[in-house]
Amino acid sequence: MSEFNQLNLVSSLRTAIQQAGFQAPTPIQSQAIPHLLDGHDLLGIAQTGTGKTAAFVLPILNRLISQPRRPRAGETTVLILTPTRELASQIGATIEAFSATLPIRHTVIFGGVGQYLQAKAMSRGVHILVATPGRLLDLINQGIVRLASLQVFVLDEADRMLDMGFIHDIRRVIALLPADRQTLLFSATMPPEVEELTKGILRDPVRVEVTPQSTTVEKVDQKVLFVNKENKRALLKKILEQQDIQRALVFTRTKHGADRVTEHLEKNAIPAMAIHGNKSQSAREKSLELFRNGEVRVLVATDIAARGIDVAHISHVINFDLPNEPESYVHRIGRTARAGNDGQAISFCDASESPYLRDIERIIRQKVPVDRDHRYHCEIAAGMFPEPQRGPSSARRQAPTPTRSAAPAKGRRPPPVVARHAEQTARPQGQRNKAPRVSGG
Ligand code: ADP
Ligand code: MG
Repeated sequence: MSEFNQLNLVSSLRTAIQQAGFQAPTPIQSQAIPHLLDGHDLLGIAQTGTGKTAAFVLPILNRLISQPRRPRAGETTVLILTPTRELASQIGATIEAFSATLPIRHTVIFGGVGQYLQAKAMSRGVHILVATPGRLLDLINQGIVRLASLQVFVLDEADRMLDMGFIHDIRRVIALLPADRQTLLFSATMPPEVEELTKGILRDPVRVEVTPQSTTVEKVDQKVLFVNKENKRALLKKILEQQDIQRALVFTRTKHGADRVTEHLEKNAIPAMAIHGNKSQSAREKSLELFRNGEVRVLVATDIAARGIDVAHISHVINFDLPNEPESYVHRIGRTARAGNDGQAISFCDASESPYLRDIERIIRQKVPVDRDHRYHCEIAAGMFPEPQRGPSSARRQAPTPTRSAAPAKGRRPPPVVARHAEQTARPQGQRNKAPRVSGG
């Protein structure tokens, strides 16, 4: 008996949940859904991978089924705002999965593609509109989308939205919403700007905060393999030939590196696809689709391209190159231990990358076990690893800038949470989604 049955959802949804293969609700789901069904506003604070999408999609669908209503032309009953088109598409896919057999219309709109089909979908009106802020405002200004009859507003990834410079767009959208509505705001972190935003838009909200037990680095089985740079591709091939690797996300530092690794695997009869900023939107979506449905079990990505991609059940994350920002490591390996699954992270480290490994071990506050049991092991690098502790040992820290040395010591941070602040590194400030381009590199 699944705990989902205790959530008071209509039976058609319970069937859909079962078909989606969800056995039990995640903590944010079991805590948020009852309040949302009661019509409360909600402030949901939970990290990436904790199952926020179903936490809002299920009660929304429940409401739409129990109070059926024909949307009017150009209007929507529910608006879900999210920062990137990848996230918008994923939310759309979740809605699709849970509502496939229900008389509920939804559509997804984002920038960077033609607006014709989006306008066409809106012309009949929808029950649920998933949108990125820039394109939404475009369509509103053209009179294609109207928010007059909206009942539920969801702001997803609020911290990231503000980070990407969407605050003014968000405020513009909010100004157009009917005052009498249910509002949900989700955020991984609560910086003061988000706190401020919640004050203006939430009415007496229930606050649900989920501690990310299942997504800490401890959940991931990590190891590092020392290898000479020139042997990395051969080592990767050897590893990927093992059958227990169901779905592997391979990270390279550069776009060019991602292409070269992919070509090498393809040449060796290991189907793989690369995803990075030089690929077109449709190529990226195609690769993701093949990876998601299991036709291709290896996806090679750069950090920025991988951001926001949500694929369940990645069994392995392989760091072909170690990232020079240690936070990226935390973010990368978090891809494999989502929603309670365990995962494995395998990192290649050549001699030039040893400072990066030391930085990583410092922020995760543990040593990554070395696996010497492979044919390309090179002991040269091993001697370069003293206990990861104080001292200006890394390349990055040899020339500290005044601001950097004035910053609080890294060692005093709490143990990191996978995929938390990492998402914010290297993101261009003020980026708009008029032409959102993932610029892998
Ligand atoms: P978030 O928005 O918090 O980052 P998502 O909603 O994208 O997280 O969910 C992360 C992954 O967990 C998705 O692949 C989703 O299908 C899966 N998932 C969500 N809820 C459950 C559940 N109750 N049982 C199993 N898997 C789930
Ligand atoms: Mg999400």
